[in-house]
Amino acid sequence: MDVIERIQAAATRHGDRPAHTYRAEHLSYAQLWSASTLVAERIAGELGHDGSPVVVYGHKEHAMPVAFLGAVRAGHPYVPVDVSWPADRIASVVEESGARLVVAVRPLPHGVTGDAVTVLDGEHLARGLVPPGPLGTPRPVAPDDPHYVIYTSGSTGRPKGVQITSSALAHFVDWATTLADETGIEGTPVWLNQAPFSFDLSVMDLYGALTTGATLHSLDSATVGNARALHDELGRSDVSVWVSTPSFADLCLADPAFDATVLPRLRVFLFCGETLSPTTAGALMQRFPEARVVNTYGPTESTVAVTSVRIGPEHLDGSALPVGRAKPGTTILIRDEAGATLPAGSSGEIVIAGDTVSVGYLHRPDLTEAAFTLVDLDGVPTPAYRTGDLGRLDPDGMLFFGGRLDGQVKLHGYRIELEDIETNLRRVTGVQQAAVVAIRGEDGVVTHLHGFVQLDHVPDGSPLAVATGLKRGLRTYVPEYMVPKVLTVVERIPMTPNGKADRRALEAGSR
Ligand code: AMP
Repeated sequence: MDVIERIQAAATRHGDRPAHTYRAEHLSYAQLWSASTLVAERIAGELGHDGSPVVVYGHKEHAMPVAFLGAVRAGHPYVPVDVSWPADRIASVVEESGARLVVAVRPLPHGVTGDAVTVLDGEHLARGLVPPGPLGTPRPVAPDDPHYVIYTSGSTGRPKGVQITSSALAHFVDWATTLADETGIEGTPVWLNQAPFSFDLSVMDLYGALTTGATLHSLDSATVGNARALHDELGRSDVSVWVSTPSFADLCLADPAFDATVLPRLRVFLFCGETLSPTTAGALMQRFPEARVVNTYGPTESTVAVTSVRIGPEHLDGSALPVGRAKPGTTILIRDEAGATLPAGSSGEIVIAGDTVSVGYLHRPDLTEAAFTLVDLDGVPTPAYRTGDLGRLDPDGMLFFGGRLDGQVKLHGYRIELEDIETNLRRVTGVQQAAVVAIRGEDGVVTHLHGFVQLDHVPDGSPLAVATGLKRGLRTYVPEYMVPKVLTVVERIPMTPNGKADRRALEAGSR
């Protein structure tokens, strides 16, 4: 069964159950299913069956999952776009994706769509109120068609859209739901949704919950940004399956009262997206003695995650935690620069092969060819993705993550290409050259970004005022998490002999 059929089965069996909880309001399975049927008819009426992507713009409203399902049930992949993105980035995703339709669950910033794009006001979708216009007969996406396209930071300064097919998603969900293993949870399981829907980590909780008849409990960014509100909201949530970045768990752990008394039904923490430190894992194991702590690893290009390991006391010896063993259907290879597969114990690039590897970047055959390949697994050519991550495998197949081969970093769980920020900094008036470096703490985790800019003339005003103005300019192009905390104006960006910004010299200068 594909994920839509599983959600339909859940809706048939548990129509009255809450499928989604947001700001203390529930959307039942019956409402989710019937509202998404209408949306699918409206989308089919507008677009027919051309398979073009549908951009869904909003945050955590009930109408978001309704619009996602509506698009897929009408035969169109959806592209989730979060309200935290600036207008310029939304416009570039609408344009690059070739979308002819945007479902605006929140009002769209002015000017992000051209005349050829229809905008459906999606605010009322969850109540079954569909914007007026033609209706059509929906035809759901086929197994090999994209189910969603998630845009991620691109080194050219424009995000790239990772296409995940319906069948890849089904393989992923088969496995992810076994990680949650809800046996022993009384009543309806509740999955926590922390990540924005535009970040692929959310796919784990969205479909983990909805395909199993569980409830998805969404936290919005305002709640996450307020310690008191977060504590209260978690206390009301009744969450049994936790899905988040380790950074978010650290934020919660800063509250000494965050423990099993707040979340008595919590049985499992599922982490992905960045390094899980032994300190974080250890603190959670202490405060939630009945919950399992599971580390998972994977990039958006391989459908959320492909390895997992339950962290136990035996892992907490101070060394880096493992990221896990491959899920069924996935093979992890470690390769050298020439593409030769290395034996266990050697360090090299992590290459992921198998049934959840993306079919590539939407409308970008050049980028697709550079990152995706076929590998021979026992004589079978198998789709594979070159991650750009460094790693090593133990003889028993346990994977350890060892950093990046390029300028991609993770900051509080967000994937950022430093070149993406540099390119956009150069678009700010007065900026001639720019370089951004990631500053790491003693544990190797990125604490913040430091940007250096070379301007075309010496500006008036204090360094702080100049930096503030430059940051304001950058915010027009990139989301807040990509704006460097520190920006320094320099006379000249130091260069390496081959003409690239000398990041080492800049890093040394920023200490
Ligand atoms: P994203 O596509 O946003 O999920 O980011 C994928 C990247 O995040 C991977 O290529 C890794 O560099 C990093 N990553 C994902 N999971 C982990 C993990 N468990 N530990 C360390 N890094 C991770």
